[in-house]
Amino acid sequence: MRLILLGAPGAGKGTVAKMLTDLDGSIQISTGDILRSAVKAGTDLGKQAEAAMKAGELVSDELIMGIMEERLQENDCAAGFLLDGFPRTIPQAVDLKGLLSKLGIKLDGVMNLNVSRDVILDRLITRRTCVDCGEIYNVKNNPPAKEGVCNKCVGAVVQRDDETEEAISKRLDVFEEQTAPLVGHYESEGLLVDIEATSSVVAVDAIKRFLKID
Ligand code: AMP
Repeated sequence: MRLILLGAPGAGKGTVAKMLTDLDGSIQISTGDILRSAVKAGTDLGKQAEAAMKAGELVSDELIMGIMEERLQENDCAAGFLLDGFPRTIPQAVDLKGLLSKLGIKLDGVMNLNVSRDVILDRLITRRTCVDCGEIYNVKNNPPAKEGVCNKCVGAVVQRDDETEEAISKRLDVFEEQTAPLVGHYESEGLLVDIEATSSVVAVDAIKRFLKID
């Protein structure tokens, strides 16, 4: 499958993407994960992205398109991909369209994960992430077996720097201003599919129905 997962921070894009990769070997491409790894490794890319990320703002379209132009040409994309957290602005969506047509790749659709703002705020405040493998936990309903330790890789499970209440509120404002317009954009391109995402399982079921996967 070749999908864009669209939705606010906390809508469940990462969890849904991980569940979908199990179905057909498609890979998840999360620009947020790529950037967090770069920050952790202290690369030039990381240094350029760090301040904006910490403040809950977007990094520049140029930086993101540079990453994605390379990433979409790697061999593991041949089996399909789930774009998680990209595109995030209209210019990124326009550039992505050009890039996909240059690479001869056709999208199956843009899955718009709908969740209310209350649910999102609660999810983000209670979310914890493994610094090593990116596995997502929730202190209320999905804590790691041992507090602060990843079940999968034994990495440290922490609250992300951009998941303080202040940064979350900034990220949601940025989403409304810069990313929400993508809904109308993809609707006019005939690619938008509205998905009720009250839970990741519900969202995955709806996406499977759309793709006609049992
Ligand atoms: P995420 O994990 O997708 O919520 O991304 C975390 C942060 O990385 C965002 O708040 C942005 O600072 C940055 N980021 C991730 N993807 C993008 C993108 N497509 N465009 C701009 N900034 C991004």
